[in-house]
Amino acid sequence: MARSQVATEAFQGKKVTVIGLAREGLALARFLSSHGAEVTVSDSKPAIELEPAMRQLDGLGVCFSLGANREEVVLSADLVFVSPGVPPSIAPLTAARRAGVPISSATRLFFQLCPGRTVGVTGSCGKSTTTTLLGQMLDAAGKKVLVGGNLGTPLLERLPEMDQETWAVLELSSFQLESMEESPNVAVITNLKPDHLDRHASLEDYASAKANIFRHQHPDDYLLLNYDDPAVKAMAQEAPSRVLFFSIEKDLGAGGYLRRGELVVSLEGMKIATICPAAEVRLLGRHNLYNVLAASLAAVICGVEARVAGQVARSFRGLPHRLELVRTVNGVSYYNDSIATTPDRAIAAINAFNRSVILISGGRDKRLPMDPLAKAIRQRCKAVILYGEGGELLQDVLAKRTAHGEDILIQRRAHAFERAVETAASLAKAGDVVLLAPGFTSFDQFPSYEERGVRFKELVEGLR
Ligand code: ADP
Repeated sequence: MARSQVATEAFQGKKVTVIGLAREGLALARFLSSHGAEVTVSDSKPAIELEPAMRQLDGLGVCFSLGANREEVVLSADLVFVSPGVPPSIAPLTAARRAGVPISSATRLFFQLCPGRTVGVTGSCGKSTTTTLLGQMLDAAGKKVLVGGNLGTPLLERLPEMDQETWAVLELSSFQLESMEESPNVAVITNLKPDHLDRHASLEDYASAKANIFRHQHPDDYLLLNYDDPAVKAMAQEAPSRVLFFSIEKDLGAGGYLRRGELVVSLEGMKIATICPAAEVRLLGRHNLYNVLAASLAAVICGVEARVAGQVARSFRGLPHRLELVRTVNGVSYYNDSIATTPDRAIAAINAFNRSVILISGGRDKRLPMDPLAKAIRQRCKAVILYGEGGELLQDVLAKRTAHGEDILIQRRAHAFERAVETAASLAKAGDVVLLAPGFTSFDQFPSYEERGVRFKELVEGLR
């Protein structure tokens, strides 16, 4: 199944411009200069903001063009690499396309160079969890596996460790998929919900980027699709590869599904294999059953025994900032789901509990519909503490609902995150869950969701 297409010697003496000096840009600059390319890094940020990143390229002979992405730096290159955060519509890229300068990305290059077999996981939610689970399943089965992509280290840097037997498991964001002209041997799409509409012009545009995960697959490759998500299910019609579905709602008889309370996998010519009883999955929430099922189905396709996949499914406790139990104080359990940066994710988190939930919500708005979250809060939460920019917005949506005579919730507004946590703690009674599932990005008060989660954990650790 391996299909490497490019030789690294091709970069010797080439003038290469890398746009965007973040995680992938750094990895690219290092990789390309170590293979003899003359690398220029272009970034719209000024040098003062990029100093720590620039320092990591010391001694490699990399040139910098900072403070703006300039057309001449792109047009004078033999090849341009674009980081996932850079919109394809910026003027220098338009000029490069017009002038016929080839444009690529770290992810594309990795797929072109990878000597092993590749698995890609995309979707609106559940990518990291599914990718990590799958990596652990392959590892537990004794396979040679490297996990990366949008998660952890960029895999370009780990190419020297890979051979034909290696499985490279990649989490792929829609941004990384945007310019892809290669697809993995096994592709997984977890679900498709409105997200990143601040960057993608429409949901169709977003779905089309995600479809690159299978568009260039070969007939003997596999595409695993969520049967219960209509937008994902419909993608089967466009697949050039073998499609398998996974479902929690329907006994599909093939693929991955829930059968009499057990997660099972069934491939053509194989007996139905049990992964594990759904009740034994440690991760909370129905959404995580999808992640476990998708990972297990992919693992079995990659040659992992169902029994081994089941062991991982039963023991995996989840990643930080994803429904992470921080602490139980006076019978109140505090959960950190700081990665819930969209309303859908916050809903998934709220629905994971059958106990009384006090929700902490707020952050920066991504122009996503708020009504479903307001409805979930009204149906399932004992209280919601609203903070920051998004708190105001959600308060308006909640207020509209309550104006129609529906139950009034306790809504406490605090601007600062710290105050919101304090207020939640003061309202909680033994048996309650205090859940940070903000439904918005962190950028109004924190540089990342990780830092928001870490702050939450510090505050909870400090509670008496
Ligand atoms: P991603 O890598 O796509 O950001 P994660 O696995 O990190 O996804 O999960 C992020 C959050 O998204 C979780 O904490 C949960 O709130 C929500 N989530 C995870 N998996 C799913 C799913 N399959 N369906 C719906 N929501 C999910």
